[in-house]
Amino acid sequence: MRYFLQTLGCQMNYSDSERTASILETMGYEPAAVGPDADLLIVNTCSVRQKAEDRTRGHVRHWQTLRRKNKNLAIGLTGCMVRKTGTRNRDSIDKPDPLLTRIPDLDFVFRIEDLPRLPNILKKFHGKNSQLCFDEIREGTLDNYFAIFPKIASNFQVYLPVMTGCDHFCTFCIVPYTRGRERSRPMSAILAEAKRLVKNGAREITLLGQKVNGYGQSAFDKKSGFFSNVTGHPFAELLKQLNTIRGIRRIRFTSSHPEFMTDELISTISQLSRVCHAIHLPVQSGSNTVLSRMNRRYTREKYISIAQKIRSAMPDCAITTDIIVGFCGETDEEFQQTLDLFEIVRFDMAYLAEYSPRKGTVSEKMMRDDVPQAEKTRRWHALNDVLRRISFEKNREYEGRTVKILVESTKKGLLSGKTDTFKPILFPGNKNLIGGIVSVMITKAREWVLEGVIAPRP
Ligand code: SF4
Repeated sequence: MRYFLQTLGCQMNYSDSERTASILETMGYEPAAVGPDADLLIVNTCSVRQKAEDRTRGHVRHWQTLRRKNKNLAIGLTGCMVRKTGTRNRDSIDKPDPLLTRIPDLDFVFRIEDLPRLPNILKKFHGKNSQLCFDEIREGTLDNYFAIFPKIASNFQVYLPVMTGCDHFCTFCIVPYTRGRERSRPMSAILAEAKRLVKNGAREITLLGQKVNGYGQSAFDKKSGFFSNVTGHPFAELLKQLNTIRGIRRIRFTSSHPEFMTDELISTISQLSRVCHAIHLPVQSGSNTVLSRMNRRYTREKYISIAQKIRSAMPDCAITTDIIVGFCGETDEEFQQTLDLFEIVRFDMAYLAEYSPRKGTVSEKMMRDDVPQAEKTRRWHALNDVLRRISFEKNREYEGRTVKILVESTKKGLLSGKTDTFKPILFPGNKNLIGGIVSVMITKAREWVLEGVIAPRP
C-alpha cells in the first residue's frame, strides 16, 4: 500500500506531516511520488485564508476521480480545517465531523492531535464510501502526538515544534479555534528531540510555534509545573540550552509575537552564536486603531521600539513581518500608517495578505468586511511596491560581502540556500554541497534574491 500526503499552509503543517508520514511508514505504507500512484491520500489543510480551503476542495475533487482506477483508494483530511467545523469542543467529539457532509468525497477526517489514533482509523476503514467519524476514536493527547518521532523530509534542515495553539484571540485569526489553547512542551522533551535530530544529521533547527517566543508562558504552562524552575524568560532559556548542543549550526524560530519580544530575549539572541539573526515579527498593521480592532495588544510605537532594540543589539539582524491589508473598517488614513511603518522599520521581507473573513472568528461575527476587494488589491500592490524597493536596497548592502550559506537544494541549475539572515541566494556549484555550509561572495543583489559565487578559501 502506498500513501501520498499533500501539505498546505505553514511550517507547522509541514512538521505535522512529517509526524504523519512517520506513523504511516511504521504501519508499512510506502510513500508514492504522486497522488495517482497512491492507495491512501491525505490532505493536511490550512484555513488561514479562503484560498487554502479552496485548494483543499480542489485536491479532494480531483482525487475522487482516481477511485475509478483504484477501488481501494481512501481519502482523508487533517489539519486546520478540522476543528473549525465544530470539533474543538470536547463535548462534540462524538458527533460526526461536518466536513464529511460538506466534502462528501472524503472517507475520514481526523484532528492532528489524534494522529496516534490514525492506525485505528485505517484499520477500521472498509473501503469506498465507508466514512469514519470522530466517535470511532478517542481524543488523542498532545504528549502522544509529540512522542511520535517525525519522518524528516530533509535530514539537515528540520522543524521542531515547541508549543502549539494560541490564547491570544486576535480577532481575525482562526488559529485558537483550529489549534486550540496554547500549550508548550517540556524543555527536556525538546532538548531530547533536538539531540536525536542532530544525531540524524540536522544542522539547522527551526523551532515552531504559533507564538513561539511566548513559550512556557500560557495559562496551561503555568499550571503544568513544567516551567516552575525557570526563573527568566522561558524561550530565552530554551535557546540557551539548545545553543549548547554540539552539532547544531543554526537555530531559527517562528513566529514571534511582539508582546514577548522582551529586552532579555533580544539580548539573549544577540549573545548566542548559533541563533540566527533573523526575526519574524508579525505586526499586521501600522495603525493603532486597526491594531486595537485586531486585538493585537501592542501599539505601533511599541513595535517600532522593539525593532529599534533588535537593530541596536544586532545591526545585521533581518526583521520580517506579516501584514493584513483591508481589515474591517480600514480607512485610507489607517493604511497610510502601515506604509509609513514600512519606511520606519524597513522590513527585509513581508508576507502581505488581503483580509478575508474566516468563519467563526470575532471579526467575521462582529465586524463588517467593508473594504471593497479592488481597494484591498490596490493597497496590497502599494505596499508591495514599497517592500520591493526596501528589500532591494537592503539586499544591495550585501554586494561584495562574503557570507555563510547552508546549501538547501538546486534551482534552475544553480545551488540555492539562505544566509544566516534568511536571505535567499543562488550560486553555481556542485550538488554534493547540498546540506553543507559554504562561504559565498555576493556578486549581485536582486529585489528578492542574492546571487554569488563560492568564495575562494583564505
Ligand atoms: S497571536 Fe498569532 S496565532 Fe495567536 S491569535 Fe494572534 S495571529 Fe493568531
